[in-house]
Amino acid sequence: MSKSVFILPTNQRLKVNEEVIELLFSLAQDSLDALESGGILVGRILESSADYVIDDASVPMAKDVQKRNSFVRDSEGHQEYFDQHWAHQEGRCFYLGEWHTHPEKVPKPSFIDQRGWRNLLNAKIQEQTTLFFIIVGIQRLVIWQGVNRNGRIRIFRVGDINRYE
Ligand SMILES: [Zn+2]
Repeated sequence: MSKSVFILPTNQRLKVNEEVIELLFSLAQDSLDALESGGILVGRILESSADYVIDDASVPMAKDVQKRNSFVRDSEGHQEYFDQHWAHQEGRCFYLGEWHTHPEKVPKPSFIDQRGWRNLLNAKIQEQTTLFFIIVGIQRLVIWQGVNRNGRIRIFRVGDINRYE
C-alpha cells in the first residue's frame, strides 16, 4: 500500500492509519455477492500542526441494512463505537467523517452520496467544519474532503490509494 499521507489545499496533512486502509479494503465489494459496507471515521487533529489523522473506522453492525447497492447505517451502534473510543482516548478523538463501499473499480460519489455528505457538513457534528469521506472501490479507495465555511459547502477530492500498489 503506497501512500497514506495527503497534502490538503490548506497545507495541512491528512494521514490515514495503515490498519484502517487494510480494514476498509478487506470489506471491498470484490465479489458479485458482496454487500455494501460502511461506517464512521474516527481520529485526531494534531495540536502542533493541525494535521488530521484517521486512526479508526467502524464497520457494519447488526442493525445496519446492507444491500448490494446501498448501505443504511443505524446510528445507535456507531454512536456506541464512538463513545467507547471517546472514553478510551480521554476525549481527544473526533468524528472525522464517513466511509462506504461501491461495487466499482474506481468509485464515484452518487447524487445521494453528495447530498448525504452535504447534510453531514451542515449538521456540524462536534462543531466540525471539515469532514472526510471515503469510498472504497474494488481497486481504489478515494478520499474527499468537505468543508463548511460559514454555511458555504465545498467538497473536493483529496486523493486515492490503489489496493494493489
Ligand atoms: Zn455511494
